[in-house]
Amino acid sequence: MPNMAMEKNPMPSQAPEIRNQNFKEVALGYTPEQAMDEAKRCLQCKNHPCVGGCPVKVYIPEFIREVAQGNFEEAYQIIAKSSALPAVCGRVCPQESQCESKCVRGIKGEPVAIGRLERFAADYHNQNHHELPPKPASNGHKVAIIGSGPSGLTCAGDLAKLGYQVTVYEALHLAGGVLVYGIPEFRLPKAIVQKEIDTLKALGVDIQTNVIIGKTITIDELMTEYGYEAVFIGSGAGLPKFMNIPGENFKGVYSANEFLTRINLMKAYQPGSSTPIQRGKKVAVVGGGNVAMDAARCAKRLGADVSIIYRRTEAELPARREEVEHAMEEGIEFKFLTNPLEIRGDEQGWVTGALCQEMALGEPDASGRRRPVAVEGSEFEIPLDCVIMALGTSPNPLIKSTTQGLETQRWGGIIVEEATGLTSREGVYAGGDAVTGAATVILAMGAGKTAAAAIDEYLRSKS
Ligand code: SF4
Ligand code: SF4
Repeated sequence: MPNMAMEKNPMPSQAPEIRNQNFKEVALGYTPEQAMDEAKRCLQCKNHPCVGGCPVKVYIPEFIREVAQGNFEEAYQIIAKSSALPAVCGRVCPQESQCESKCVRGIKGEPVAIGRLERFAADYHNQNHHELPPKPASNGHKVAIIGSGPSGLTCAGDLAKLGYQVTVYEALHLAGGVLVYGIPEFRLPKAIVQKEIDTLKALGVDIQTNVIIGKTITIDELMTEYGYEAVFIGSGAGLPKFMNIPGENFKGVYSANEFLTRINLMKAYQPGSSTPIQRGKKVAVVGGGNVAMDAARCAKRLGADVSIIYRRTEAELPARREEVEHAMEEGIEFKFLTNPLEIRGDEQGWVTGALCQEMALGEPDASGRRRPVAVEGSEFEIPLDCVIMALGTSPNPLIKSTTQGLETQRWGGIIVEEATGLTSREGVYAGGDAVTGAATVILAMGAGKTAAAAIDEYLRSKS
């Protein structure tokens, strides 16, 4: 008999007043009993609508059936057929707008906690099975992947399983892309990312760090001098946006990218870290997306009073609801309908505050959201010693400017054929944030998967 409870089994988590002082993972994961109980909420629908909501098409009812029966390793093996990074997806996928949004249990009550079950199965495997997968036999073809984030790793994993000789080029000194420099330890422990990368290395994927494609080597050189028959560009969107208001050059103003990289990749919060970070007492994060929540929660863990400045209302916040709730529980203040006009500083060049103005919501704009309009005469100043701009990112123009015949949108996104990820250059494919602008880990993984299948078809047709 299925478990007809209307609500998901709650996720055990660190208490807000404790977790906002440490960088350990917030969500602790289901116990085996909780996982089996939750898995029994799945109705094993024949037409499995949930799978249609998953960009990498995990066999959801099949793996959940195994969890319900206590066959946790079998559940993991089913997930691993579709996803190169199960422990990552179970943690950072926006399940509420993906697989779980299609779950029939969500019609009357809460959907099955698919993401939590996926995380449980992946963690069970990581804790109990330390053997690595065997390396598949080589098919003799070479493919280069640019960027070791979610799209690059997924594309690499799928091609390696098919016997391709895959090299991943990473600009930073550690593999993982946004999974290691962008997402904080308390949402995605880096040991988990490393474990997934070790699995890919065992499949034969070669990862070359500290190589900037477009500077160290160009794509044209990869395809001529280095002998790669196809290239996948998964270089992400690492170019931060600023507001272009006065005072953004004061010391103490960060892009969220820089702030998070110093903390997540360089571990600036640890004593003895070689990377400095300003431990501001009063920190404001400008923006309302997931990156803004991550930056605010990191600043809080460094001991600051933190506020999020957002020019619309709570209802328009683009961040995942869960992330907003976590930030609120952890004591982060939200200043809605507020817009910074100028960052103010002292004679030594350090931030001292921000001049802001109140906003009101006007008519809907092209995106359908009501446009914020300034309230006349409402200017006020907030004392601050650190401002973090979390206004989004766009793709770095380096690859476009060094690759012949690569067409991009005006804002920098690489133009691709949707069904294959093929760019305007034969043999060159792209996916993830480099194509879409900043989006989600799972959409990037889906794009990596699509491109891997297309590259396989392309190279088969040539040989
Ligand atoms: Fe859902 Fe993400 Fe898992 Fe797909 S990969 S089933 S979207 S949690
Ligand atoms: Fe199970 Fe929900 Fe998928 Fe149905 S839609 S198979 S209940 S997870």
